[in-house]
Amino acid sequence: MTKKCKECRQNKDISMYGMFRDSYDRIRYHTKCRPCRTKVLVERRRLRKIMDTHIERTVDPEEQASDAFKDDPRAAKEVDYGRVVRKPTFVIKGGLID
Ligand SMILES: [Zn+2]
Repeated sequence: MTKKCKECRQNKDISMYGMFRDSYDRIRYHTKCRPCRTKVLVERRRLRKIMDTHIERTVDPEEQASDAFKDDPRAAKEVDYGRVVRKPTFVIKGGLID
């Protein structure tokens, strides 16, 4: 059984494709042959690395500061009124008839 690879457009034996089961438990094959898939993954990883370094270079210094997520100083002066007490309106006493 042969299958056409989506990447290199060559008919290759089905053993050259990775096999997996979908959510319906059916046996499916990858659309790209093993060498092409590896190539794509390596390329994706390389791009990811470039993107990560780029993101690191463009970080906001204000956000990366050690005191970036400190509480607002105004919040310290705030007064919290009262305390929430939860009182059940119905207390189960264990009997069949209350
Ligand atoms: Zn291929």
